[in-house]
Amino acid sequence: MKKGTFPYDKFQSLQTPFYYYDTQLLDNTLQSIKKETDKHEGYHLHYAVKSNANKKVLRHIMEAGFGADCVSGGEIQTCLDAGFPAEEIVFAGVGKADWEIKLGLTAGIQYFNVESIPELEVINEIAGEMGKVARISFRINPNVGAHTHAHITTGLAENKFGIEMADMEKVIRIAQKMENVEFVGLHFHIGSQILEMDDFVALCNRINELQDKLETLDIPTVKNINVGGGLGIDYQHPNENPIPDFKAYFDTYANHLKLRPGQHLHFELGRAVTGQCGSLITRCLYVKKGTIKQFAIVDAGMTELIRPALYNALHVIENLSSTCDEEKYDIVGPICESSDTFACNYSLPKTQRGDLIAIRSAGAYGEIMASQYNCRKLPGSYTTEDFE
Ligand SMILES: *Cc1c(COP(=O)(O)O)cnc(C)c1O
Repeated sequence: MKKGTFPYDKFQSLQTPFYYYDTQLLDNTLQSIKKETDKHEGYHLHYAVKSNANKKVLRHIMEAGFGADCVSGGEIQTCLDAGFPAEEIVFAGVGKADWEIKLGLTAGIQYFNVESIPELEVINEIAGEMGKVARISFRINPNVGAHTHAHITTGLAENKFGIEMADMEKVIRIAQKMENVEFVGLHFHIGSQILEMDDFVALCNRINELQDKLETLDIPTVKNINVGGGLGIDYQHPNENPIPDFKAYFDTYANHLKLRPGQHLHFELGRAVTGQCGSLITRCLYVKKGTIKQFAIVDAGMTELIRPALYNALHVIENLSSTCDEEKYDIVGPICESSDTFACNYSLPKTQRGDLIAIRSAGAYGEIMASQYNCRKLPGSYTTEDFE
């Protein structure tokens, strides 16, 4: 199997586990996105900060000229601190607290993606108290099922996210009457790790229907359509497929979504931006031989990368130290939970104590989800530049 390239010698002296970000790959990924979005008039990319808010990673994304999609006040603050312009920040989330709404208004973010009528009322009230007008976009639940893990689909009717389609006219009419909100867009997000372009085609078709319907209701064309994120990455082949097929993704929208003249199209990609550039680097502590299995016990666990425990996610795992013949291992962490397992019956070159192991495609929903369970330290991080 082809292995990734890492500054292996530099890794030797470092305390494991840690995240390593290949910022060359990140930059290439960002350029690949820009190349595609630049082809189309009015396409904007707001990076979904929840996938990875590492300061060094954020700096590359900010410098490439991307906006940000935030789902909490903490993320808004992190983005402002990182230098993202407030007017390029959008803010979603089903449970925005008053202080988070105030922070968005004070900073002057581009718009709030509103997910319910009670939230709309509170935003109107707080904006009124502050003498401001909040730009708002409604998150509409398009009832489009994406072919992905049940825990990460968000676009079905029975879902905590968004406003049901049947209520769309009503909420728009309510917003139009409010003094302190300006209705500027419609927002959608159907799920994550989506690899079938047909799912995005289904979303486009649904948005076309909704826009046609709004026209028959004499509701003026909205300025912004925001289609969320969700483009997946190739977890099985990080070396062969390091950059997602952004051309196919953006062309799908260009070919199927009927934007009205002057309408802006916003995207909120997270995983597709940061997923492949990150690896979790860990060290083998022990190889324990059972009767039929052997375990490679490593010093990273679900505290550093929870995706395998949470979603049964599979990541490619590479032994960077060994070139011996392969053997099968259950690769497990040190945490006191049986679900603290990265892979079962996985082929690795013969592994021994001290070997450096890379868990690949861990750039999104990896470091950001780390916890201190078992009183562990949060993992550190390095980027390509740290070793130049
Ligand atoms: C999580 C999320 C995203 C990003 O999803 P990815 O699958 O990482 O691209 C975009 N928009 C919203 C509203 C989200 O909640």
